[in-house]
Amino acid sequence: MSANLTPRAKFATTLLRTAAALSRATGRGDGSVIGGRVGLIVEPRLLELLAEGRHVVLISGTNGKTTTTRFTTAAIEAIGKVATNSFGANMPTGHTTALAKAPKAEYAALECDEHYLGQLLDAASPKVVALLNLSRDQLDRAMEVTALAAKWRQTLQTSAGQSTIVANADDPLIVWAASVCQRVVWVAAGQSWTADSAICPNCGSHLDRFGEFWRCTNCGLNRPSPQWSVAQEGEAVVGPDGRRYELNLQLPGRVNRANAATALAVASLFGVDPAQAAPRLSEVASVAGRYAKVEREGRQLRLLLAKNPAGWLESFDMIEPHPPVVLSLNAREVDGFDTSWIYDVDFTSLAGRKVVVTGDRRTDLAVRLEVDGVDFIVVDDIRAAIAAVPPGPVEVVANYTAFQDIRAEFNRVN
Ligand SMILES: [Zn+2]
Repeated sequence: MSANLTPRAKFATTLLRTAAALSRATGRGDGSVIGGRVGLIVEPRLLELLAEGRHVVLISGTNGKTTTTRFTTAAIEAIGKVATNSFGANMPTGHTTALAKAPKAEYAALECDEHYLGQLLDAASPKVVALLNLSRDQLDRAMEVTALAAKWRQTLQTSAGQSTIVANADDPLIVWAASVCQRVVWVAAGQSWTADSAICPNCGSHLDRFGEFWRCTNCGLNRPSPQWSVAQEGEAVVGPDGRRYELNLQLPGRVNRANAATALAVASLFGVDPAQAAPRLSEVASVAGRYAKVEREGRQLRLLLAKNPAGWLESFDMIEPHPPVVLSLNAREVDGFDTSWIYDVDFTSLAGRKVVVTGDRRTDLAVRLEVDGVDFIVVDDIRAAIAAVPPGPVEVVANYTAFQDIRAEFNRVN
């Protein structure tokens, strides 16, 4: 904890809080980024100083890190206060703010942008690092996904130190990156998207897959035996000793059961009894608007965020089989201007249901659905989409800025 801060660090922390509060008061978001920036200018080692003496977990990966961080926080709160960057400010400025805002928290659960993992390993000396998955992401075209895995592998080798890694045994890129570490707890967290791991990240040969198992035909890199997994039957996580921990999640889909498995694996490394932690996960109803349920004109909308091809596939697995589906696609800066990735996503599972298409790039999406033989109608915006479907449940799937637009329409629902 931060009891022993230097005078400079205390001053930096005070300025950070002031800047964040001003930013909030002037309606510019939650102030995490600007606050952290100010604090780090005054004391460049502020993140390190604030992390000192706390038990930290870093959570990173392409998809699911916000939800897994939320689950992990809920689980560890069974034994103490947890500092967390719950608003998705997942770079060092956001981490610094999260720690500054919770000076008395003995624990910290920090969602970490994939590109800052090395920096955070050095600054926060985490007790645990959870690595979820790596796949192509429109938010970031700066680095090809295998190159990112290679960077992680190198970073973990030099900087993981005393950390225990909780890693997804089903993602070959994650296994390759994490296998350089001494202490790894493997979780069968699944991989719905296999297009980015058809070949071995270690040697470039073909990967064979048999059911859940995968193995390189050349160098022998293969799926490690997981200690934690999602139960085949019912909604539960199975722990290292074979014991079942029943889940009663409000968040949908197998992907979220896998996120829960990772959270329980992490929490148990912090000394939390998984039996005590599991029921706490069911209290999470939505995460920064994701999975939020909103009502408008007799329609019950459920909002699903899907930022990249893997995310879209996962969302189709989460939606109920019958309700109409609204798809909204934008291509603004943070989404990536190029929408060609929608051709990587198989939309055929939507055939036979009512599909409404909207967003800035609705025409691109319409052409894509046409190619997959899915019937649809095109409308101008979410209001028109609501009017186009009958009263009752509606599933809404949107990429990043499209999702934020829809949240704004519902007064930034959380
Ligand atoms: Zn290989």
